[in-house]
Amino acid sequence: MRVGIGYDIHALAEGRKLMLGGVHVPHERGCVGHSDGDPLLHAIIDALLGAAGLGDIGEHFPDTDRKYKDADSAVLLKHAVGLVRRRGWEVENVDCNVIAQAPRLKPYKHQMESRIATLLELDTDRVNVKAKTNEGFDAVGRKDAIATQAVVLLKRARASRAEREA
Ligand code: MG
Repeated sequence: MRVGIGYDIHALAEGRKLMLGGVHVPHERGCVGHSDGDPLLHAIIDALLGAAGLGDIGEHFPDTDRKYKDADSAVLLKHAVGLVRRRGWEVENVDCNVIAQAPRLKPYKHQMESRIATLLELDTDRVNVKAKTNEGFDAVGRKDAIATQAVVLLKRARASRAEREA
């Protein structure tokens, strides 16, 4: 087994669509970012890469690369989990925190879980999203940013019969 951790924080600004966990959450502001700015998917990507010893999101998807301007983070996540699978790992589970003072995320948690599970090709019960506020502290507490944390556990994929007999 391998464990990986991810963290992200994005500033909130007007005129941006708020994407969290691959789900559009209606809000008057959205996350600033080179890509679509989805801090939850970014934390999960880092946790996946970290668990597999594959570095970090900045190495794989540099924000200096115009290719990733306004990129759909769901596509980046699918790419990252593909790299992890090709190294012979499968995802056991994903647990996340989304720390936001606003908007209220409780109504969207299950949607995020099911979207992330779909992107990772997992059963929904292997993905957990927890929503917290920052009790009014710091930029997150002032509603100027959203922070995220993710932990991913990987296990060795079961070798196929052909691989075992090779
Ligand atoms: Mg990010």
